[in-house]
Amino acid sequence: MAVNVDKEKCTACWACEEACPVEAIKVSDTAEVDEENCIDCVTCVDECPEEAISL
Ligand code: SF4
Ligand code: SF4
Repeated sequence: MAVNVDKEKCTACWACEEACPVEAIKVSDTAEVDEENCIDCVTCVDECPEEAISL
């Protein structure tokens, strides 16, 4: 699976970066996912207040 970030919706709030258990998300202008480290746990999808992340 791949984590997709809708850059139009992302407000760079950092919630996903803080929530990710394996530090696979880094937020600068928008959230960027490191697919190599992502374990598809869906935590970031649940935590994003903008519903900007999907799997
Ligand atoms: S699905 Fe889980 S491991 Fe992957 S980026 Fe989101 S919180 Fe991190
Ligand atoms: S939680 Fe959602 S809105 Fe916040 S930085 Fe992550 S993707 Fe963007």
